[in-house]
Amino acid sequence: MKSFRQLGVAEKIVEALARRGVETPFAIQELVIADGLNGQDLLAKSPTGSGKTLAFAIPIVQRIDPKGSRPSALVLVPTRELALQVADEFASIGPARGVKVAAVYGGTPVFAQGKRAKDAHVLVATPGRLQDLAERKLIRLDGIEILVLDEADRMLDMGFQPQVDAIVKRLPRKRQTMFFSATLDGEVGELARSYTFNPSRYDAELPAHLESGETEHRFVSVTPENKVETLVALLKEERGLALVFTRTKRGADRLVQKLKRHDVAAVAMHGDMNQNARERALTRFEEGKVSTLVATDVAARGLDLDDITHVINFDPPADDKGYVHRVGRTGRAGRDGIGITLVLPEQQADVSHVARKVGEAAQFEAQGMRVARPRLVYSGTRRSSKWGAPAKRRKI
Ligand code: ADP
Ligand code: MG
Repeated sequence: MKSFRQLGVAEKIVEALARRGVETPFAIQELVIADGLNGQDLLAKSPTGSGKTLAFAIPIVQRIDPKGSRPSALVLVPTRELALQVADEFASIGPARGVKVAAVYGGTPVFAQGKRAKDAHVLVATPGRLQDLAERKLIRLDGIEILVLDEADRMLDMGFQPQVDAIVKRLPRKRQTMFFSATLDGEVGELARSYTFNPSRYDAELPAHLESGETEHRFVSVTPENKVETLVALLKEERGLALVFTRTKRGADRLVQKLKRHDVAAVAMHGDMNQNARERALTRFEEGKVSTLVATDVAARGLDLDDITHVINFDPPADDKGYVHRVGRTGRAGRDGIGITLVLPEQQADVSHVARKVGEAAQFEAQGMRVARPRLVYSGTRRSSKWGAPAKRRKI
């Protein structure tokens, strides 16, 4: 294993990282940083929680010229929360080289944001708002030397391709492009190829904490009648912060109400809430005032909370990748984590594939649940929900 120094990271940045407790590179960082520093285009496939942000933030902070007077690096992300989190990571190392970062996202006044952003060296932006700013000429993109697409698969799922295309057209052709995605199959792969030149490809497997057995995976058989009560019992017996997933925004709101009736305080987080409401919910959860956060996949994307002790799938994830994304949010930073999935009878066959993937097929059967035979063919990039109605892709 190499150190940040051995990968070519500058001393000042190494020190800034150490000050925030980042001492040794994660796998994806070890794979990507040297190429990133060399200006090489790259495609990287790596799950949530694997440390992708620093994998691109470190090379950007080290490579760009802090004397520049217009933005020279652009990171596109699918959601506002992610824009803020990625910008925070930049802010933790940027000052080491005088690099300024600005987050650009919708739902806030456009002129004020344009003003703040136009002098930043690094823009971390959601595609819609950035395109808006560029069209109004409130921001210049002709100085961009490094482009990152973070969670590119999710940007496509959310229907951002037209905006992303329009933005990329405005950028200099001579640039470095780093492409991060949970999958590089199908459409996402095509996009990756069209935006990059002769890229290196990297694939980091499951985040170490999910693979190492530090995360416990439980599968609980439920019926429609006892599903909520089962969740209530789990939440009451466990102490710590629980992140509960539902499939839909309405499902999240409804579940919060039902929990309330059982004297369990919970807050919801989803795309129909305005920015302030989402941040308020998140803050109450982070500060431990409310120990249960009910979220949809998209809203929880990029949520970066080290203290989550339980991830509970009230509705199962769409597939095993979805499972990794969700349960990858617990057991971070060396803590123990637990992933619990509630399984209705008609969901058993599909969820059993997930159970097998995390090595818990025996536990699944011990619960009296049916295990389906191994699936030989995986569906492509389209994440059609096998559990119930087709997954809505926009604004979940
Ligand atoms: P991803 O984008 O792959 O989902 P993040 O970049 O958000 O993952 O990183 C997940 C968490 O791990 C963050 O809290 C981040 O600060 C932390 N982290 C990243 N790299 C390291 C490292 N090398 N050592 C310790 N913590 C790290
Ligand atoms: Mg990320």
